[in-house]
Amino acid sequence: MKRRKQSSRPPRILASLLATLLAAIFAPAVSAQQCTVKPASTPLGQTVRLRCEIPAATARLNGRTVRLFKQESGDWQGLMPVAVADTPGTYPIEFLAEDGTTLASASLTIRKTIFPSQNVTLAPQIEALHSTTEEMQTLTAFRDSISDIKYWQDPLVAPLPGCVISPFGVKRLHNGKATGEFHMGIDQRGAEGTPILAVAAGVVKIVQPFNVLGGTVAIDHGQGLETMYLHMSKLNVELGTHVNKGDVIGYVGATGRANGPHLHWVVYVNGVPVNPQQWVTLKSCEAAKKTKKK
Ligand SMILES: [Zn+2]
Repeated sequence: MKRRKQSSRPPRILASLLATLLAAIFAPAVSAQQCTVKPASTPLGQTVRLRCEIPAATARLNGRTVRLFKQESGDWQGLMPVAVADTPGTYPIEFLAEDGTTLASASLTIRKTIFPSQNVTLAPQIEALHSTTEEMQTLTAFRDSISDIKYWQDPLVAPLPGCVISPFGVKRLHNGKATGEFHMGIDQRGAEGTPILAVAAGVVKIVQPFNVLGGTVAIDHGQGLETMYLHMSKLNVELGTHVNKGDVIGYVGATGRANGPHLHWVVYVNGVPVNPQQWVTLKSCEAAKKTKKK
């Protein structure tokens, strides 16, 4: 009964008034504006940039959780991948604190996206190549590791000047048979031996020949951004070394499951393959052909 004493009431009323006042001042700002999603509408297979003025540790989209990292600019940033297989629609992206409480929410619209089909002609001995369990484990470990230090900076540089033979996301057929696979990177034209550049600074995590991927280099650029370069004739970096943007990491080849010299490269954002052409500006070989004809 002590608590019902008359004397304890005024401070309580004051406290509740103060709380109401503070809530009124801060509530509108805490909504969408302290954390933003850019762009707010995206096709499938692209990257969305997350930015918060408040210390958000993670962000969640339909059960996919990515980390945000404090930047030198004083804000928190992260990269949210939208996979080719995601379902179009409008969804909330929730920004969470270290303890899992929701700090803010923003809306993302994933647009319906049509990917064309493409047939690839492969010699029987090339088509028969398969990845070993060990190779798959090496690739999975690379994709799943998210490192804290940001080595990369905008803008990225193209690894090769060549035009795009095959874009990201196309449904692949091998010798006319559906594979159920989509093209997880892009193919760029390049003569055998053309130097291949690191698209951004980072740490070399894989340097080895693979059965299907051929001569491969994989780079961790930090804070969820990774790239991988395949089918190379010669590898020019050592495992564990730091590379700068524009360093020559290898040379164009046709090793692994390839029907001629080209570079296939991949961008992983928090383990999900996304469209590299959102990150670097490249011409399609179709467009280049049309321009030449004029
Ligand atoms: Zn390819």
